[in-house]
Amino acid sequence: MTALLSLRQVEASYGPVQALFGVSFDVGEGEVVALMGRNGMGKTTTVKSICGMLSPKGGISFAGSRIDGLTSHRIAKCGIGLVPEGRRCFASLTVEENLLSAARKGEWDFDKVSVLFPRLKERRQQPAASLSGGEQQMLAIGRALMTNPRLLVLDEATEGLAPVVRQEIWAAIETLKRETGVAILIIDKSLKELGQIAERAVILERGRDVWTGPFKDLTPEIADKFLGV
Ligand code: ATP
Repeated sequence: MTALLSLRQVEASYGPVQALFGVSFDVGEGEVVALMGRNGMGKTTTVKSICGMLSPKGGISFAGSRIDGLTSHRIAKCGIGLVPEGRRCFASLTVEENLLSAARKGEWDFDKVSVLFPRLKERRQQPAASLSGGEQQMLAIGRALMTNPRLLVLDEATEGLAPVVRQEIWAAIETLKRETGVAILIIDKSLKELGQIAERAVILERGRDVWTGPFKDLTPEIADKFLGV
């Protein structure tokens, strides 16, 4: 499979504190990859490195071009849509304004996002601040899709959401996988749900990739060793 995203020996630091010590993995075109690891192992730092929020060392390529060193705005324009941890949206803007302000040319528009998340259409005139946590996550995913990405990066896809809302988010991600060609790099704590959607997993430990393989090869022993489950 041709790599859409490719990380090679990526290192990243917060001031004097180094958090990544050499992370390498690929995400293929249209592939779903789970980025896993216990708390504090470097998952969000890897996402921030990919999306231009840190200045990493090593190499990060997307669609055949180097993107490390570019601003987050430029990287988004290359076709990487980020759903950040904490699902940040513009609180005072309405749902519709949040979506339209992210729009870039392509198949994803307000109507298409409304089919995936009918609740966003119902709430289109409400300020984002008035939404529930689950609705805010739908809006954050909707905003990322409005940029018409080739790669969607979901950091903590269902963290802190009620079980019934989680199922809605997982169902939407499955629809994306089934019906679109978008590649997905996903972080979540639910091994079971990840296993139903991800083709491959990358496990991080203390800022290094320590296990990469097909999700079906992630045995209970490996999960116990690296994920503590
Ligand atoms: P979690 O599941 O808890 O979000 P994670 O795997 O995403 O964990 P990171 O948030 O990437 O982990 O953190 C990796 C390391 O970097 C940790 O040791 C963490 O303490 C450190 N770190 C993260 N953010 C900062 C920051 N802003 N300043 C200093 N150190 C940080």
